[in-house]
Amino acid sequence: MTIKASDLLKYDITPFLFGVLYSRIMPKPTDDSNPKHFYVYTAFRTSKAVLKTAFSLSKYASRLVQQYNSLSGYPNWEIHKSSDNAIDLRLYIQNDLNIDAAQFYNLVYKKLRSSTWLNTATINEDKKYFLRGYMESRGSVDTSLKLFAQDYFYNNRFELKRVQLLTDDIGLPISYANFNPRNMQPQFVSGENKRNAQFRINLFYYAKEIGFINEYKALIFEKAYKPRARIARDGIIYFQISVPNLNSHVAFIKYINFFTNNIYDKVLTPEKVGILRKQIGFNTSQELGQPYRNKSIVDLFDELSEDKCALCGTSQTFKKKANGRQSFEIHHMIPFHNGQEFDNIANFVKLCPTCHRSLKRGSASKDDQIRSIITILGRHPEVFEYTSSALGIEELPKLAEEIWSLLG
Ligand SMILES: [Zn+2]
Repeated sequence: MTIKASDLLKYDITPFLFGVLYSRIMPKPTDDSNPKHFYVYTAFRTSKAVLKTAFSLSKYASRLVQQYNSLSGYPNWEIHKSSDNAIDLRLYIQNDLNIDAAQFYNLVYKKLRSSTWLNTATINEDKKYFLRGYMESRGSVDTSLKLFAQDYFYNNRFELKRVQLLTDDIGLPISYANFNPRNMQPQFVSGENKRNAQFRINLFYYAKEIGFINEYKALIFEKAYKPRARIARDGIIYFQISVPNLNSHVAFIKYINFFTNNIYDKVLTPEKVGILRKQIGFNTSQELGQPYRNKSIVDLFDELSEDKCALCGTSQTFKKKANGRQSFEIHHMIPFHNGQEFDNIANFVKLCPTCHRSLKRGSASKDDQIRSIITILGRHPEVFEYTSSALGIEELPKLAEEIWSLLG
């Protein structure tokens, strides 16, 4: 018996299974938009760090199925492939709702958001199980970069929000999270190497604070780093090892928003990539913990965004003496005085001086200002998505009214 999508959504989903679902949902058949089934999976290959004689992957497959069954609360995981080189397990879900994978994903996401264990300030055990499901189903231990990495698939802007859930709601420290949009690498643009973006967690942090459920991945870590001690508790393997101190707190979220606005779904020429890399402070080996370039995020946005008013649409104002460019001003959609976190690229729009003035508190009637806010949000879905998720309001008129009430 396969699980029905409607049943899965009706009953409790374990934090672990939420993590697996959140990582990736595949349609089956793959090219069908309303497929008969969805599936989630865990798949990994042998690592050079572990001798083949030291661990039999083919024997491990059946143990791993049992572990996944018990962590998921469904006895339906099956071995799709297993050999001495690789394991691939799947959990099939019958698409009795007759929806596409994105719709199913959104339903899972909504249910996840209503989970009570998500609403705690600290990173509790449920959240850790979520992270284990999320990272270990598809993540691989990158021993050269000391990162736990997984390909990050996204077909729409909504899916980019996944990363923010991991830091904002799950409580993964931003300094240990890392987003690597490989489509910014020159090899991607030239077509040599079309690899996906990756989401990565500092490997030492994971090994010490979250802990592995996958024995093989734990063994890779152990062989590569020879930690002081291995601690197994409730089927989780932790390692005693010192975690590097990293503090790049703002960089990650700014970066993901920069990515959303400037890179996602844009056709990039090698020249444009060069400019972007320079502007965001990249050099050839951008890795964890590197300080964000000093240039303010407002200046960066000013430079990169088109000189066009987000409200009236004009591209002609007057020439600025300093650089000869047309004069525009950067407006915080949710005003900056409401909190440091709103100094965020996804919260910015470019306005002509007249429109900017018209949005100052009291400079025009409430109705006019709300209408202007609705116009801006309607024309800029990325700003709508950011402000909507930041303020927790989904309906456009309500959101506009709330933004109006926050005007400075
Ligand atoms: Zn204007």
